[in-house]
Amino acid sequence: MRLTPFEIHTPTTLEEAAGLISRHGEDAVLYAGGTELLLVMKLGFAEYGHLIDIKGIPELSAIDRDGPDLRIGGCATHRSIETSALVRDDWPALAEMLRGVANVRVRGSGTLGGNLAFADPHSDPATFLLAVGAQVEVWGAGGRRMVPIDQFVLGPYWTALEAGEVISAVLVPPVPAGGAVAHRKIAFHERPAVTVSCMVRNEGGRVAEARIAVGSVGLAPARLTATEAAMMAGEPADRLQALAQDECDPTEDANGAVDYKRHLVGVLVRRTVDEARARAGGTN
Ligand SMILES: Cc1cc2nc3c(=O)[nH]c(=O)nc-3n(C[C@H](O)[C@H](O)[C@H](O)COP(=O)(O)OP(=O)(O)OC[C@H]3O[C@@H](n4cnc5c(N)ncnc54)[C@H](O)[C@@H]3O)c2cc1C
Repeated sequence: MRLTPFEIHTPTTLEEAAGLISRHGEDAVLYAGGTELLLVMKLGFAEYGHLIDIKGIPELSAIDRDGPDLRIGGCATHRSIETSALVRDDWPALAEMLRGVANVRVRGSGTLGGNLAFADPHSDPATFLLAVGAQVEVWGAGGRRMVPIDQFVLGPYWTALEAGEVISAVLVPPVPAGGAVAHRKIAFHERPAVTVSCMVRNEGGRVAEARIAVGSVGLAPARLTATEAAMMAGEPADRLQALAQDECDPTEDANGAVDYKRHLVGVLVRRTVDEARARAGGTN
């Protein structure tokens, strides 16, 4: 494994980064934590002469409120988000999910934007952000645009990003009153093999809203809308487990066969739903 020579550029504004990208075209690539990119280059799957290191653009590392939402800059590391007092206090399930990503070394350099842009199908944040209804802010030559997360991750290593576009931020809505979120995963090796996130909102002792996302088992994270409807209809846990098992759409890979993954999804959905309900308190 050997890297071919490249030049690193360190823009301090998005405009400067865009200029570098257009100057070097397909020989340039954005570089954040490098935990995926350098691996891909070392393995010889890609070769670039110019790495545009966007970590020095201040707005990309900021973590702040944006109205009711949490705004996370595209280059905020998993660790900086997980340890942010704002996130711990007001988005604790997000902090908890990120604490389970990789190891502290990878979390210290790997970024949320890099995770989403790379779109490895085995991703914790992509599943979690789908359950909570996050949006991705994308910056490009044409300005800024917002992409709902369910329209951002399109498949393995495939996103809605156009050439030269940068993830400038991720916007996470607040958990609604009476609501709670839980995220669980099963990992056999370093990357997750199954990820499940559930957002539940209670009203008058019953489930008024449910969003269940399953990821890392198939081509892209997906909502289980029939299982969500059953949850809101007050169906028992056994029924939800069976429905989730049928509704998910796994693909066979090194983590296991389709039927095995279906079984894992059913079990994990049951546990995650139970946890979200318990956190929200007092439901059917
Ligand atoms: C050992 C190991 C274990 C891991 N375990 C987990 C795990 O348990 N769960 C999990 O979810 N993930 C896991 N990961 C993945 C990890 O989260 C990602 O490696 C990391 O978040 C990627 O971010 P980065 O900043 O390093 O991206 P980089 O490697 O810098 O970039 C990755 C790709 O995204 C592009 N890019 C980067 N930033 C932007 C941006 N702002 N806008 C547009 N494009 C951009 C780059 O051009 C590149 O193509 C693991 C990785 C490793 C190495």
